[in-house]
Amino acid sequence: MSTGHDPASEQAAARAFDPDALRARYREERDKRLRDDGNEQYLEVKGQFAHFLDDPYAEPGFSREPLTDEVEVLVIGGGFGGLLAGARLRQKGVEDIRIVDPASDFGGTWYWNRYPGIACDIESYTYLPLLEEVGYVPKEKYSFGKEILDHSQAIARKFDLYRDVCFQTRVTKVTWDDDASRWIVETNRDDRMKAQYICIAAGPLNRPKLPGIPGVEQFEGHSFHASRWDYAYTGGDSEGDLTGLQGKRVGIIGTGATAVQCVPHTAEWAEHLYVFQRTPSSIDVKINPKTDPEWEQTLQPGWHRERMNNFNALVSGVPQAVDMVKDGWTDLIGKLVVGLAKGDGVDASPEGIAKAVELADFEKMEEIRGRVDSIVEDPETAEALKPYYRQFCKRPCFHNEYLETFNRPNVTLVDTKGKGVERITKKGVVVAGQEYELDCLIYASGFEVGTDYSRRAGMEIVGRGGETLTEKWADGVRTIHGMHVRGFPNFFIMSNPQAGFTASYPHLLNEQAQHISYIIDHNRASKVEVVEASEEGEAAWVKQCIDKARDTGDFFENCTPGYYNNEGQTSELSAQNGFYGGGSLEFFKILEDWREADTLDGLEQK
Ligand code: NDP
Repeated sequence: MSTGHDPASEQAAARAFDPDALRARYREERDKRLRDDGNEQYLEVKGQFAHFLDDPYAEPGFSREPLTDEVEVLVIGGGFGGLLAGARLRQKGVEDIRIVDPASDFGGTWYWNRYPGIACDIESYTYLPLLEEVGYVPKEKYSFGKEILDHSQAIARKFDLYRDVCFQTRVTKVTWDDDASRWIVETNRDDRMKAQYICIAAGPLNRPKLPGIPGVEQFEGHSFHASRWDYAYTGGDSEGDLTGLQGKRVGIIGTGATAVQCVPHTAEWAEHLYVFQRTPSSIDVKINPKTDPEWEQTLQPGWHRERMNNFNALVSGVPQAVDMVKDGWTDLIGKLVVGLAKGDGVDASPEGIAKAVELADFEKMEEIRGRVDSIVEDPETAEALKPYYRQFCKRPCFHNEYLETFNRPNVTLVDTKGKGVERITKKGVVVAGQEYELDCLIYASGFEVGTDYSRRAGMEIVGRGGETLTEKWADGVRTIHGMHVRGFPNFFIMSNPQAGFTASYPHLLNEQAQHISYIIDHNRASKVEVVEASEEGEAAWVKQCIDKARDTGDFFENCTPGYYNNEGQTSELSAQNGFYGGGSLEFFKILEDWREADTLDGLEQK
């Protein structure tokens, strides 16, 4: 029975914004950006663009003899995924582990991304893995890239993972040999190694992409992707001091989390910086105190796991007795979700909750837009920097200098009004018919996400009977728990499709690493040589993923395009290929219960 009294709408009426008008504006901004070519709008970095992948940090001239030996576990990727897999396997007593990576050291994302200002805006005490095992407490609340890279290498030393590593080696093909029950691993160094198990930890955002802008091949100035920052050209290091940019006209394409961090440093040194924007990021404050030594003294064994769980629960919208992290992320979700749990007269039906969450989202984004006005002096520039979409349509950013940078006289925001750069010429970049001449063009244009998994992992993956993973997944990803694939025995994937989303990605990797090490340990103890997803087990998980994804489908459909919603092309397939819709807490519980049962349900063993 309706009482005619709707507290949520009454509260909204009291606010200074009109939800209907905002809803219409969000839709308009989304529609402006939708394009038929989706992921195809980007260029694969190969052929004439292959040099964009070159390693600027490795010593040139490395060579070694090809390897043909056999290892028990071969891990592809030496970032946090591979390091966690290696560490958790070592803890189970697995000695014969080889990690292979194209880089010249451990670090993954943090090896490649060294652009000026690089930092992690997820709290360091939860983001950095294995802190207690390594005996390390980060120096400040948000680590800069160098500290994270150093920590990666400390993990490798601690768990003796340098012992049999193959750096500067790109795996090109892995093939299951059914007779020998071994994987054959081929590389760009003519290796032909064998492995009983393969674990792919190639990273979810490892393959830089370029925007497929007409004329992109024509630019005759200097250019590079932000994930391969060319300090030989710019001078300086990840802390700045980019003296090589003095007197240079520099352009940056992209305004995502990478650009937000590198724009302020670039602006400080370039003669003029042009920032080419398609969609503005939402920029909240970042408060970064140094680690308090007294607090450090109070940490008890188990503190790291407790803090990771606390953060993950809060950002998953599950209220906790305390907020240990108290930062922009937990505040954000707190405002969006946790406040609702307190009641506040909100209609508790699913529609009522959805409406209240939407209102809280409008409110938070109004605050973000208000912040732009309070910082950016030129009204037109301020207006262009305001994000008009729901908070989690794109990755929220936290930065204290980015918006201020647009007050500098040597910085111009070139807003493409949602359309993207029009053309690239020999001399520069064209937007709305105007050419901006540049000496240097930096692509902060992100990484491949929605493309074929094998292409992103950079290798051909051939399972039983010669079937490739690309063929197997032609009609959508099929796994159990995102990790096991029927037809690909002794093969583990550490990635996000069909796994639980975590704002702090290493948390997911840690759970996956523990799961994989449990399975391998179980096999060793029970003298099992081969383990593989069963047909039924795989079908059941795929169905569960599709059913659960319906929960988030509507939200993403209404978002501005980006890699969170497959560039606006949501479908049944993107539901199947996306994260597990039940969230990470539910996903981790599923894994934990599965291990607890100790029956390897859904897997066949030989
Ligand atoms: P993103 O994919 O987030 O950003 C790419 C940018 O390029 C977007 O602004 C995009 O606009 C723009 N773009 C693409 N094509 C064109 C075009 N034709 N014309 C103009 N602009 C274009 O990549 P990032 O490298 O910034 O970030 C990737 C991810 O890495 C983040 O989402 C985050 O997960 C992670 N990261 C995390 C950090 C941290 O602190 N923890 C720091 C840095 C990165 P549009 O939005 O319209 O598509």
